[in-house]
Amino acid sequence: MPPNRVSGRTTITAVVLGLVVGMAAPASANHEAPFDGSAHAYGDMVDYPLAFPVVGSYWYEDWFWAARGVGEHHAQDLMAAKLTPVVAAAAGTVTWINWSQDPNDLNPERCCTVVITHDDGWESWYIHLNNDTPGTDDGLAWGIAPEIALGTHVAAGDLIGWVGDSGSAENTGPHLHFELYDPEGVLVNPHDALLAAEGRAHCGITRVGDVTTLLSTSGLIKVGAAGDAVRQLQEFLAAFRHAPGPIDGIFGSRTLGAVRGFQTEVSLASDGVVGSMTRAEVAELVALASRASVLDPDGRSLRQGSLGGDVAELQGLLKAVGLDVGAADGIFGSKTTAAVRAFQNANGLFMDGVVGRATRARLAAVLHLTPLVSCS
Ligand SMILES: [Zn+2]
Repeated sequence: MPPNRVSGRTTITAVVLGLVVGMAAPASANHEAPFDGSAHAYGDMVDYPLAFPVVGSYWYEDWFWAARGVGEHHAQDLMAAKLTPVVAAAAGTVTWINWSQDPNDLNPERCCTVVITHDDGWESWYIHLNNDTPGTDDGLAWGIAPEIALGTHVAAGDLIGWVGDSGSAENTGPHLHFELYDPEGVLVNPHDALLAAEGRAHCGITRVGDVTTLLSTSGLIKVGAAGDAVRQLQEFLAAFRHAPGPIDGIFGSRTLGAVRGFQTEVSLASDGVVGSMTRAEVAELVALASRASVLDPDGRSLRQGSLGGDVAELQGLLKAVGLDVGAADGIFGSKTTAAVRAFQNANGLFMDGVVGRATRARLAAVLHLTPLVSCS
């Protein structure tokens, strides 16, 4: 389905910053201290206590589930200027440097990466640390703090290195790629733990739940239906700001109203019955919402008429540089075009209003010094 066939939708407010797909319910209720390491699933949001690992200006969103070239991203990228200090997120011991556990061969050619095994058995990974002589992109420097060696014990907040663009980030904006593993080696999503480390509550980041049952159920779903498909439908509608009433798996009048509102928004007949066409719209929005970050150098070009989570993210970034885009609603309309053109003009770029490789690179560069509150 063409992603651009939504011009004319004026009311959609559905796609918001930080949309992610397939997210398990937040596990926080199960993770009051002390952490016993039990039973996390891949990607669980945890409330593990962290020291925020970047000290300085940075920004990030929830990129755990972002589609990247090698699969799901399963980490958080903390975008920051090169040489921004990186500190240990928790007390622990340095167990890997540049993927080596051999103090006589620290793989200098693979600089610069550090792994800390926390005293409680958790583990944090710090990837793409600086490898450049300041002011260059020469790959000749060592961005791991001189005090850090294999076996070094660090306290939370201790300096371990500096932000850079080493490894596979050579052609992206510098950032710290931060991964968190529980004591059983399960990769969890540190996003909310990072927010908490900043003193921010988890706020306003919408998650689309699993929609597989909804999409795989054949037949019409309408008033009177009940079950998992209906519950998933309700979760989807709620995430996209169509109040379906209680998420109870029962298709009643409020769910009917929400389905009709959604159908109107996506230019379908608003009959309140979920058939193949409505399912296709659900699938499309979920797919768009789970796209890679707008700053992904290999991301799609965005232009007037584009729709999706990456557009909402772009709008948030344009706002962060002081441009007026109206609501960050995920719709690339004329106001967003005007803002992109203004940004291009101010940065010596071809002023075509299209966000391609050059514009996204410049946006990333400009924003390295601009914190972005993704939940504002
Ligand atoms: Zn990353």
